[in-house]
Amino acid sequence: MVPQVQSMIAVTYVTDIDTSRAFYELLGFRERSSGKAGISAWLVMRYDQVSVLLAMTGSALGIPPLPMLFCFFYDDLGTVIGALDRVGVPVTRTGHPPHALGGEVKVLDPDGNTVLLGQRERLASQAPAGDEGQARFSILREAAALAASRGGATQACQVTGPDSQRCPDQAEIKLADSLGDSAWACLMHAEQILMTVPAAFIASHDGRGIAAFLAQR
Ligand SMILES: [Zn+2]
Repeated sequence: MVPQVQSMIAVTYVTDIDTSRAFYELLGFRERSSGKAGISAWLVMRYDQVSVLLAMTGSALGIPPLPMLFCFFYDDLGTVIGALDRVGVPVTRTGHPPHALGGEVKVLDPDGNTVLLGQRERLASQAPAGDEGQARFSILREAAALAASRGGATQACQVTGPDSQRCPDQAEIKLADSLGDSAWACLMHAEQILMTVPAAFIASHDGRGIAAFLAQR
């Protein structure tokens, strides 16, 4: 029997819950629930079926600053860009990659996490972009460069093809999912995984994760 995932909540540690709440409200999220325990606090932000859990602790955790990446898709990217522009949040336009033909932009949340905002399809009212493909891999390349600066992968891509052949390319990025599985992948397979597995994210290979946090309690 195949396990049936019901939902996924992305979790990130933030420096200040109130500052982060204001930022994620700009992206359309609204507070769903929150709580405090001792020196820690948490806040669930939700839009429809999409949830983000912001957590804060009194003493800073030893979490590497990158790579952490959220990728949210919108029906109309222009609306959320407008909300960000109005309060002066810098927005970097990264083009119209194949997975976001309506456009994609990159912003940083108050803790420096990369947040990609995309629109899957080009609206009839939008002019053809002409740059499809140019921005491909840009965020993946950033993550790969960071991984390389920390020693990088010591192995080949762990993705196996349909003919059971191992991918011969050098692994550059570690990916993980919310079930706890992880794998090192080449850029091409990393993109495939991120675009087809909703619960996959770019993992930091030296992060200590939630277990270390829970072990202190
Ligand atoms: Zn590969």
